[in-house]
Amino acid sequence: MSDVNARLEAIYNQVVQRNQGELEFHQAVKEVIETLGPVLQKHPEYAEQKVIERICEPERQIIFRVPWTDDKGEVHINRGFRVQFNSALGPYKGGIRFHPSVTLGTIKFLGFEQIFKNALTGMPIGGGKGGSDFDPKGKSDAEVMRFTQSFVTELWRHIGEYTDVPAGDIGVGAREIGYMFGQFKRLTNRYESGVLTGKSPTWGGALVRKEATGYGAVFFLEEMLKVRGIALEGKTAIVSGSGNVAIYAIEKLQQYGAKVIACSDSNGFIHDPNGISLAIVKQLKEVERKRISEYVNLRSGATYVANGNIWDLACDVALPCATQNELNEASARSLISNGLIAVSEGANMPSTPAAIRVFQDAGIAYGLGKAANAGGVATSALEMQQNASRDSWNFEFSEQRLKTIMQNIHQDCFNTAEEYGHKGNYVLGANIVGLRRVAEAMLAFGVI
Ligand code: GLU
Repeated sequence: MSDVNARLEAIYNQVVQRNQGELEFHQAVKEVIETLGPVLQKHPEYAEQKVIERICEPERQIIFRVPWTDDKGEVHINRGFRVQFNSALGPYKGGIRFHPSVTLGTIKFLGFEQIFKNALTGMPIGGGKGGSDFDPKGKSDAEVMRFTQSFVTELWRHIGEYTDVPAGDIGVGAREIGYMFGQFKRLTNRYESGVLTGKSPTWGGALVRKEATGYGAVFFLEEMLKVRGIALEGKTAIVSGSGNVAIYAIEKLQQYGAKVIACSDSNGFIHDPNGISLAIVKQLKEVERKRISEYVNLRSGATYVANGNIWDLACDVALPCATQNELNEASARSLISNGLIAVSEGANMPSTPAAIRVFQDAGIAYGLGKAANAGGVATSALEMQQNASRDSWNFEFSEQRLKTIMQNIHQDCFNTAEEYGHKGNYVLGANIVGLRRVAEAMLAFGVI
């Protein structure tokens, strides 16, 4: 085992060396590598064929200039990225993020996670991710359209139904996907529905795609609780964020009889001890695109805490659905001392490594993002399936498919962790299941 661990450490060190300053990418790689010792021991061929070294190096990284003009006529230059990480299991698949914090390292961390997440879904999709440091906040609809069109004017040549299929992520929803598809269609003269997912159901999108990440995180939570003989009904929940993932996590939690008492945006959080009114949140965020602070003007008994830490509140179940590293060690400790039972991550890598250790040491049911939020990309794969067969499924059928996929992911992670002697460790289970699927395909293809 010490040989294997030394080898893994060397791989990690090389990643750090090669990708200097990309701290989130290092973190994502480390989290995976730390759990792979036992699987390398069982499969020496993975080491001989340098499968892990190959997985850590993206197949292709594209960086491009995105010039656009604002409503006043001023020219702006942003940077666009698409990292095509791994195509062993299918075309690259993963969202596009528009956020000022986006760097190449951010996209690499997300793309790396996506390889394992997508493998976990059991669908034929590889891993990729893209984005830009463009800040959609405060931009007019026309500015978002012009920026997005400029972004696709470069991106279009790198994507395709059989090559790379982007979707949304933070800052990119059905509106932006619409502008992307429109520009792609215009540049290529092809109505290639399967080139993007997260489309509006009015022109090729799949029902339940919008809800899928949030619903899926709750289905995963339900499965983790079932193992422990605990029901979700009557539990108090905190959901950070108030974007697409958070909104539909809240919706499903409420349908299951849980009480959601808080949600947030990047400026602060709202606390509504009577249970959040989702209708108000949807109106503010989906229709009016306003800040969550407005909620307290529309609902008595609710308070807004500017720049506050949502994880200071007490809850039974926590669903971090905002962004990476939003939940640190101190927050994890505070949640546990306030009675936390389970965590299901709707966002990608929202808990810091120290927070994860605290959860695991305390025996909390901890569902990592790669597994718990895989419902979004899984439903994207269902959207591709519907586009390829020129079909569209109804809501009930689509939701049932999603639920079954989430149950299978849970079962696979749970069983694999147990097989490797780490019962209940979903991190280890998820990374090993994902790695095995990708590695087997890579070995079959030879050294490529
Ligand atoms: N951005 C989502 C994720 O993090 C969805 C990606 C997709 O549907 O391709 O998994």
